[in-house]
Amino acid sequence: MTSAITAPRFDPWRTHAVRVARKTPEVPGVFTCDLAIQEATVASTYRFAPGQFNMLYIPGLGEIAISICDDPQSRGSVAHTIRIAGNVTHALSELAVGSTLGLRGPFGVGWPIDEYRGRDLVLVAGGIGLAPLRPLICHLLAHRQEFGEIHLIMGAREPSGLLYSAEYSAWQDGGLNVYPTVDRGDDSWPGHIGMVTAILDRLPLCRPAETVMMSCGPETMMWYAAQIAIDRGVRPESVYVSLERNMNCAIGLCGHCQFGPQFLCKDGPIFSYNRVASIMKVADL
Ligand SMILES: Cc1cc2nc3c(=O)[nH]c(=O)nc-3n(C[C@H](O)[C@H](O)[C@H](O)COP(=O)(O)OP(=O)(O)OC[C@H]3O[C@@H](n4cnc5c(N)ncnc54)[C@H](O)[C@@H]3O)c2cc1C
Repeated sequence: MTSAITAPRFDPWRTHAVRVARKTPEVPGVFTCDLAIQEATVASTYRFAPGQFNMLYIPGLGEIAISICDDPQSRGSVAHTIRIAGNVTHALSELAVGSTLGLRGPFGVGWPIDEYRGRDLVLVAGGIGLAPLRPLICHLLAHRQEFGEIHLIMGAREPSGLLYSAEYSAWQDGGLNVYPTVDRGDDSWPGHIGMVTAILDRLPLCRPAETVMMSCGPETMMWYAAQIAIDRGVRPESVYVSLERNMNCAIGLCGHCQFGPQFLCKDGPIFSYNRVASIMKVADL
């Protein structure tokens, strides 16, 4: 039996009170925040699809988009991995456990995983780009028998920057081929050195035309990964990227995240590479 992952209908304007239940340091400058939904009826009905994001709101400071990094089966609280970038993310990093903030969501289109049962999958993450892929990884581990080969390549500048590294052996034991790689190794690093694209280039792909690639990370990385995958025989329509732009309303009204003819918040953040390839190359868009 399979489970379709769909988000329920909800009021996109309503900000829910959430409490910081746990804060976990991940890699330098990055932490994970588990937010417990305060209202019991909301907590019991809140669902999200892998790849979706929430808007986190600190009164007086602002509201920002943060991907959900939790297992889609978790209930009552929802985790976000956050890189300290500016005002709001810095304030989030300073919140003590027990503090209250606001959350709207979930928003956006998730990874189209239900369309690809039976296929081989290649997931490619750069840096904190692994966060929006983590719910997908949880889903794949729970439904491992529904898919063919699954390869997961993740890269960081150095070993201390590899996100969720304590989970890699469980992911490997759960049937994923996990390939962490770093730009610069150190004496303690026994693994790959080089960019994620170098691993992708050498990856054993048994049936490229039946392989789907999903990637999240710096746009340049996703663009090169897409070229390599397509050169190796993956169909362009089976390549997906997750994009980021400043956003405000999260429901396609304000226009902040317009990207060519589409809005990242409601048409994305996950797009088929086919749909965005030409505009990804336009500088400053
Ligand atoms: C769909 C989506 C999902 C996201 N998921 C995550 C996540 O899981 N974890 C995470 O840490 N961040 C995520 N982000 C990025 C996050 O929203 C921004 O880092 C955040 O808005 C920064 O807010 P701030 O007030 O701390 O920084 P600001 O003071 O607003 O900005 C600090 C710096 O970051 C730049 N910046 C701000 N917003 C963005 C953006 N959206 N994209 C690129 N650069 C930006 C600014 O230009 C500035 O240089 C996501 C963004 C989107 C659109």
